[in-house]
Amino acid sequence: MGNALFCLASTCMVLDHGNANARNHPCHECPQSFRTEKRLKDHIKNNHKGTFKCNKCFRTFKLRDDKKAHEDKNECSKKK
Ligand SMILES: [Zn+2]
Ligand SMILES: [Zn+2]
Repeated sequence: MGNALFCLASTCMVLDHGNANARNHPCHECPQSFRTEKRLKDHIKNNHKGTFKCNKCFRTFKLRDDKKAHEDKNECSKKK
């Protein structure tokens, strides 16, 4: 006890502070990770359920503003 399994500080990108096996279901949307896939899915459903998909290139965005910025900048037609 008293041993933090993960850090909530937004600046901390270390997922599990050395407990690699404890939480091996990392969220792709935020720095948290979870012990089971179910917990991860619940977390995503509760915290990141709003996804906005670009109709042109089918990229997805967490925020409506992100999608809007993407469309405004015409990133779809950008070719690398
Ligand atoms: Zn998350
Ligand atoms: Zn697009």
